Amino acid sequence: MKENLLYDTLLAPHHGRQDLFLECPGGEDVTYDGFLRQAGQMAALMRRLGLVPGDRVAAQVEKSTAALALYAACARAGLVFLPLNPAYTQAELGYFLSDSSARLMVCDPSRAAGLAELCKDLGTQLETMDTAGGGSFIAQATEMEYDFQTVPRRADDLAALLYTSGTTGRSKGAMLSHGNLVSNAESLARAWGFEQGDVLIHALPIFHTHGLFVASNIILATGGRMVFLPKFDLDAVFAALPSATTMMGVPTFYTRLLADSRLDRVATAHMRLFVSGSAPLLTETHAQFADRTGHAILERYGMTETSMNTTNPYDGARRAGTVGMSLPEVELKITDPESGDPLPQGEIGQIEVRGPNVFQGYWNMPEKTAAELRQDGFFITGDLGRIDEKGYVQIVGRGKDLIISGGFNVYPKEVEQLLDAVDGVRESAVIGVPHDDFGEAVFAVLVPEAGVTLDPNAIGADLGQMLAKYKQPKAMVSREELPRNTMGKVQKNLLREEFKTYFNAS
Ligand code: AMP
Repeated sequence: MKENLLYDTLLAPHHGRQDLFLECPGGEDVTYDGFLRQAGQMAALMRRLGLVPGDRVAAQVEKSTAALALYAACARAGLVFLPLNPAYTQAELGYFLSDSSARLMVCDPSRAAGLAELCKDLGTQLETMDTAGGGSFIAQATEMEYDFQTVPRRADDLAALLYTSGTTGRSKGAMLSHGNLVSNAESLARAWGFEQGDVLIHALPIFHTHGLFVASNIILATGGRMVFLPKFDLDAVFAALPSATTMMGVPTFYTRLLADSRLDRVATAHMRLFVSGSAPLLTETHAQFADRTGHAILERYGMTETSMNTTNPYDGARRAGTVGMSLPEVELKITDPESGDPLPQGEIGQIEVRGPNVFQGYWNMPEKTAAELRQDGFFITGDLGRIDEKGYVQIVGRGKDLIISGGFNVYPKEVEQLLDAVDGVRESAVIGVPHDDFGEAVFAVLVPEAGVTLDPNAIGADLGQMLAKYKQPKAMVSREELPRNTMGKVQKNLLREEFKTYFNAS
């Protein structure tokens, strides 16, 4: 009988194992036992700090083995893990901390002074953690006993709160339960043939569903190990390839690998699987990668709210430009955006999904939850797609005008609101424009007030104070007006067309 679904399924089976869980080139490797002991100490510390099951634990820290142990500690202690992108500015953090009423915030020591007042006002305890084993949280945890009485948690108890960007500029906290995470990890591990001998190159961030849940939970579910890299670094990836078996990445990883002359069949001979997701993989990238290495990249599709929904087959044709079929436990249908009725096979409509992977709703936002999560359990993903004649799902667009730059989501509205507030700017439109390295780059079209000449450098510097780097426009141009349709809506499709070769010549 599993008392704590996530911990007992993914973590507890590894207690006492002296083999490697995290291989850290240039740093200290971590065994399964060492990892679980550290997590046990952290769980004990959080109990001593007064946290009780259900409390939210925010973490804005650089990727490290301790940061991953904090996730395991939260699972064990029945706490809700809330990882945050280190790129978020202090202004952005204020919203996440107050909306979630996080009881504890763990941040990098360099940020502690800046956050002290905010945390004090919100009644959030503040502790620190760095990537070298330092910081107040780790120092106190080291003093604790390893043994910790695991807190019982059922399938529908919350394990994590992951914030997505909102179209209105407001982020929404997606509530993910123990059942959501465990079911997806087990399903993916089966679908992709993972087993204990697997070695995964982990170069993704761990504040996002891809690196935290898809990658790490699959390895935990099957007992293999990860080459745990602080970030995607070509030399480190090439050094890891000869002993690794799998890699998960965003499309940018693959375009960068392709740009390196070391990529060939010999370099990838030990690998059995390359997975891509979080943004569309170009058909050319898929073809070029197959040409150079003999490996057909396996593309899958998911999102913060649902973890993974579809995957190309492990055994069977991996079709470029598609995200494959729904996972066995997931139902997927294409519906008419107006009526919500299912559309005939082959037609484009909104993608809806239902299954044990679908989240519990948005934190503190019952109306948003009701608008996107139907009573019958289907979640309206906001993506537009179709199912082709062979049953593969193709994503044709993002209903919400989401921009995905380097694997990170940028909602235009959030950037537009800040640009519109700049002196001399009448209005703005923010779009995604093709970019060789980032997939899409954030691009702003500004309309100045009459008689004003805008200075993009000065505007860019101002935005730098307010927005994470990946959300900042890579270029800005001025126009006398924005193209609009008869309903007054800005026609972003025309802007995308006009600027599509701004960064890439073809
Ligand atoms: P996130 O919540 O950050 O994981 O972003 C989810 C969004 O990324 C989805 O709603 C899709 O729009 C997009 N996405 C994820 N995987 C793919 C893929 N393989 N192809 C196209 N878009 C994708």
